[in-house]
Amino acid sequence: MRTAQRIANLPPYLFAEIDRKKEAKQAQGIDVISLGIGDPDMPTPDRIVDAMADAIKDPSNHQYPSYFGAKRYRDACAEWMDRRFGVDVNPDDEVVALIGSKEGIAHIFLAYVDPGDVTLVPGCGYPVYHTGGILAGGESHFMPMTEENGFLADFESTPADVLARAKMMFLSYPNNPTSAIANDEYFDRAIAFAREHDLLIIHDNAYSEIGFDGYRPPSFLERPGAKDVAIELFSCSKSYNMTGWRVAFAAGNASAIKALGTVKSNIDSGVFTAVQDAAIEAILGPQDDVVELSALYQRRRDLVISALAKIGLHAAVPKGTIYVWARVPDGHTSAGFAEKVLEEANVIVAPGNAYGPSGEGYVRISLSTPDDRLEEAIARIEATL
Ligand SMILES: *Cc1c(COP(=O)(O)O)cnc(C)c1O
Repeated sequence: MRTAQRIANLPPYLFAEIDRKKEAKQAQGIDVISLGIGDPDMPTPDRIVDAMADAIKDPSNHQYPSYFGAKRYRDACAEWMDRRFGVDVNPDDEVVALIGSKEGIAHIFLAYVDPGDVTLVPGCGYPVYHTGGILAGGESHFMPMTEENGFLADFESTPADVLARAKMMFLSYPNNPTSAIANDEYFDRAIAFAREHDLLIIHDNAYSEIGFDGYRPPSFLERPGAKDVAIELFSCSKSYNMTGWRVAFAAGNASAIKALGTVKSNIDSGVFTAVQDAAIEAILGPQDDVVELSALYQRRRDLVISALAKIGLHAAVPKGTIYVWARVPDGHTSAGFAEKVLEEANVIVAPGNAYGPSGEGYVRISLSTPDDRLEEAIARIEATL
């Protein structure tokens, strides 16, 4: 049997070697601490679990869901956009329910990318911005991101011949993996650029609710004219500790929402309606748990930042997300340092180059680990340096 070329075209899985070493160590009974994965360790708040328990008993939820999302879920998404950001979206044609934002990212390529088309993707970012394009037969142009420019993806440096073949551009702030945030001026420039070059912008706002020191991440759709060129993805995964539930939504430009929904209606049959009911409770119920969650990550951030400073590793102090992005010591590569830390400290950190070329020279430390394990991991890294 021969698999399609698109499978062979996928980049090698950079965590494969790390996973293999981890399993070998664990087989020897060694306690390995993983700071490699961004998956909340805290449980989903009870109010959401309770809403699910009620919803699952309703037989009308047991049938096929609506392809674009239940009317009540799309209404709730629009209501939340208004409450949270003062953004106006029409629930009838500017919102589509997603089985997690990853699903929307992977499927938008089928709506916009023909073989040979280019997508502008952040120099380091969520891997599916690149692999989703490969699976659709497209190509990626990695927009440079540097510490000097605040890890704002530099779309303006894209060569003209690449731009001529480009149809979409992914942006994501607060950013995974760098934790960088963007300002209004940058978003406005992106909108003007998309207009000039006829691009669809997909702004992935997976960390919209995780902000520190009083910072509340904005919506891209707050910017004037954004809806003419962009859709934005929001997810319950990181905000409400719901990664396993698979529920998110896209909002914004009506023709892009329709195109994405058209692809989806030919591939999946939407989100389990009971899960949509739980998500309604998540976004419209009392938001105290979100405030507490940000406070928890902020405390862990402070713990990691001060420990890294003590051992001489440089990291900017993030204003949001669940990651600390640290520069590797001089003379190391991302992969080399991650390997050293695993070998000598039995701690997994994510090598920055796994997220794209701009990630070389950094490692990503995830804050989704209990405090005591985080402290233990940092102490072990310190002992190796
Ligand atoms: C976690 C994450 C996602 C995936 O979110 P799901 O809604 O669980 O699919 C998407 N984008 C970014 C940047 C993420 O960090």
